[in-house]
Order: sequence, then C-alpha cells, then structure tokens
Amino acid sequence: MVVKIGKADDNDFVVNDPHVSRYHARLTRESDGCLLLEDLGSTNGTYVNGGQIVKKRIAPTDIVKLGDSYTLHVPEVLKFNNDYSAEFALLKNVYTKYMEQKVRIQSSNQFKTRLFQSLPFALPGIIGVMIGFFGKGSPSLLGVSLFITVCAPTIGIYLGAKQSAKIPQQLQDLANQFKIDYVCPKCGTFLGEIPWESLANRKQCPLSSCKAKWVSED
Ligand SMILES: [Zn+2]
Repeated sequence: MVVKIGKADDNDFVVNDPHVSRYHARLTRESDGCLLLEDLGSTNGTYVNGGQIVKKRIAPTDIVKLGDSYTLHVPEVLKFNNDYSAEFALLKNVYTKYMEQKVRIQSSNQFKTRLFQSLPFALPGIIGVMIGFFGKGSPSLLGVSLFITVCAPTIGIYLGAKQSAKIPQQLQDLANQFKIDYVCPKCGTFLGEIPWESLANRKQCPLSSCKAKWVSED
C-alpha cells in the first residue's frame, strides 16, 4: 500500500495548503505492517514529532507535519487509503433490488391495466350471447344488453387509466429512496442509475475532492 500525499490532484491524499508541495510525501505500509514516511524533496520539509525527516518509520500516533503549518493525521490518511471497498460492495445489492422492484412495479401495473381494460369488454360479449340465447325478441333485455355493451368498455378504460396513473407515483417513491441509498460511501454523492459493475470498473469515486477507492487493488 502506497499513499502519495501533496497538493496535486493526482495524489492519493490531496492536501490544500499553500506550504505543501505538489508531491510532498509518500506513506508506505511495508510488508511487515510498519509505516514508512518519505519526504519527496518538498520545499518546506516533512516533520515527525518536531524533527525533520527524509525517510522514517512512523506510528499512527506520531505527529506529522508537512511544511510548518499543516498537520497530517495519519489515521485519516490510512482510512483514506483503507478504501471504501467494503461499504461499496454493499451497494451491489442496493442496485439489484432497485432494478427488480422497478421491473415488478412496471409489469404488475401493465398486467392490471390490461386486465381492467379487457375484462369489461369480454363480459358484455358473454352476457350478449346469454341474452340472445334465453330471451329472444325481448325489447327490454335488448336495452339492458345495449346499456352494458356501451358502459362496460367506458368503465374499463376509466379503471385502466386510473391504474396507470399509480405507476409514476410508485416509481417516483422508489427512485427517491434509491437516491438516498445508492451513493458514494465516502462523499455521499448519488451514483446515478449506473449498474454497480460499471461503477466497480471505475475503481474510485470520480470526484477529485473524494476519490474514495471503491475497489481494493491490494
Ligand atoms: Zn465519493
């Protein structure tokens, strides 16, 4: 694990301080677990517990200064590089569930809409056949038959339209919750309706102020 520290945007840990060099220092976790801090020829130097260093093994509790004013919190640096892959991995399930629910809402409403619209069309047909069979030549029965034939489809269309109107609201509620849940675990920025796998390929948050590692490369 290596963390590049400095003012330039392409560092792993970006420090916005006028006395910090563009590429100021480098923190390495060595294979034995120890932390090695190296100054990269910075203008204002790197200090550990008050003494200037070029290369020194440090503990997370040591007081590290970059230049004379900026205090580098080592645990913060470690957390930064520790990455957010564990938290990011949980988002896979968030995305999968969202897509499943979205499809379920859309398909169930489509089914209900079709049912509501087609059922009343079918009924007058059946009733019409029955009236035709049992009550031949009766004017009153013919009137009832006509009434049903005209009204039923109208009711069907009305109910179908009413059912369709529920879709946007349900989808809106789902989308609102998704916007809260599907965010960068570090900076909280909504990740959009982008499949989790595509985000995982990016490996880190695109925001330069965040750069949380989503996928660990260690
Ligand atoms: Zn982020």
